Amino acid sequence: MKFDVIVVGAGPAGSMAAKTAARAGLDVVMLEKRQEIGDPVRCAEGVGKRALCEMVKPDPSWIAAEVKGARIYAPDGTSIVMSEDRAGSEVGYVLERKIFDRALAMDAARHGAKVMVKTRALGLLRKDGIPCGVAALRMGEPLQIEAPLIIGADGVESKVGRWAGIDTVLSPKDIHCCAQFLVQDSGIDEEYTEFFFGNALAPGGYVWIFPKGDKLANVGIGVQGSKSSSGEPVRLLKEFMKSHFPNGKVIEMVAGGDPSSGLIGSATSAGIMLVGDAAHQTDPITGGGILNAMKAGIISGEVAAKAISSGDVSLAGLKEYEDRWRADIGKHIARSYEYKEFFVKLTDKDLNQMVGSLKNEDISKMDLRGMLRVLFRLNPKLLWELRHLVV
Ligand SMILES: Cc1cc2nc3c(=O)[nH]c(=O)nc-3n(C[C@H](O)[C@H](O)[C@H](O)COP(=O)(O)OP(=O)(O)OC[C@H]3O[C@@H](n4cnc5c(N)ncnc54)[C@H](O)[C@@H]3O)c2cc1C
Repeated sequence: MKFDVIVVGAGPAGSMAAKTAARAGLDVVMLEKRQEIGDPVRCAEGVGKRALCEMVKPDPSWIAAEVKGARIYAPDGTSIVMSEDRAGSEVGYVLERKIFDRALAMDAARHGAKVMVKTRALGLLRKDGIPCGVAALRMGEPLQIEAPLIIGADGVESKVGRWAGIDTVLSPKDIHCCAQFLVQDSGIDEEYTEFFFGNALAPGGYVWIFPKGDKLANVGIGVQGSKSSSGEPVRLLKEFMKSHFPNGKVIEMVAGGDPSSGLIGSATSAGIMLVGDAAHQTDPITGGGILNAMKAGIISGEVAAKAISSGDVSLAGLKEYEDRWRADIGKHIARSYEYKEFFVKLTDKDLNQMVGSLKNEDISKMDLRGMLRVLFRLNPKLLWELRHLVV
């Protein structure tokens, strides 16, 4: 089997890459190890409305709920509210990713990409040391697929990067260990996403409630890897359930890791581009990665078209991908990483002071940067380390 491009992984990054490359006229195959694209869902499913709609047309079949904004709780229970259009990239829609991921893959297929489910990439084929395809297992049968260019969209546990010699190792402090329940409870607020902070509640992370309509919500927790231990996120999530939804019914449960590492050293090597979680392109402070994965997927598909038509898939030929994603989402990831490094050090007293200081401010019309400026004005000593990001 010969193609121009092999995409490994049919998540949001892979499907956008496959669609973009196929639309540009390339012969593309996308491999997915699962038999059902999008299932199981390891995600709270929150995305910013505006940024999503710039990339795909919204479809009611994959929008579970639309929210008005985000409510943020300090450890002492003090809360502030941010409106949807200001709350950054995590608020707006709560998706139904089982349907969303499948719709993106179908769109890639509609644009000409071949999609192979139940097909697991096992390693790279090489010619003169340069990757020239993928060895895979399709429904138990070994398979060799040739292509000069491989896009690794295989998520947080990416093997493509490792096979290609790209350093994708995450240190424990730069990964968040997550657990999530899909909960049914009459007490769920259907209009707001909610975020709860506190070092006892979620060390180095937070608890979230993302409503999905019909009194259902994703209730989850992310704990900084260096502050977690085996089973800890589930134990802490159960504690939270006891205090907030004592009668809540758990319909589903998932666990997974979310990179919070900031910029990867390199997301390319000869014949290889890594996209999405495989390239650690999540926002380190929120853990949101869907939109960045889609954006990187689009950029990689465009660069693939140029590289294949010029016949240059060398590291230099793929430099445009590195340059473009770093200039776009990379800038935000780098800035967010600095915030994360600062915020994970805060004590509960600091968090209470910060949220409490906003109690009498009108933050409804502020974006995150504006809110940070106010926070800095009100808590200069506490936030001194972040002064270069505020001005
Ligand atoms: C608990 C949790 C909550 C989250 N909540 C949010 C949120 O609310 N909002 C948000 O924006 N982000 C959230 N994220 C992050 C988000 O889920 C990811 O950033 C996003 O899914 C990345 O997309 P991707 O395409 O890079 O990878 P993935 O969606 O992980 O897709 C990778 C695909 O590759 C396939 N694959 C892997 N290895 C192989 C192989 N060898 N061969 C073939 N196929 C393979 C996998 O089966 C998978 O389908 C959350 C993450 C977690 C863990």
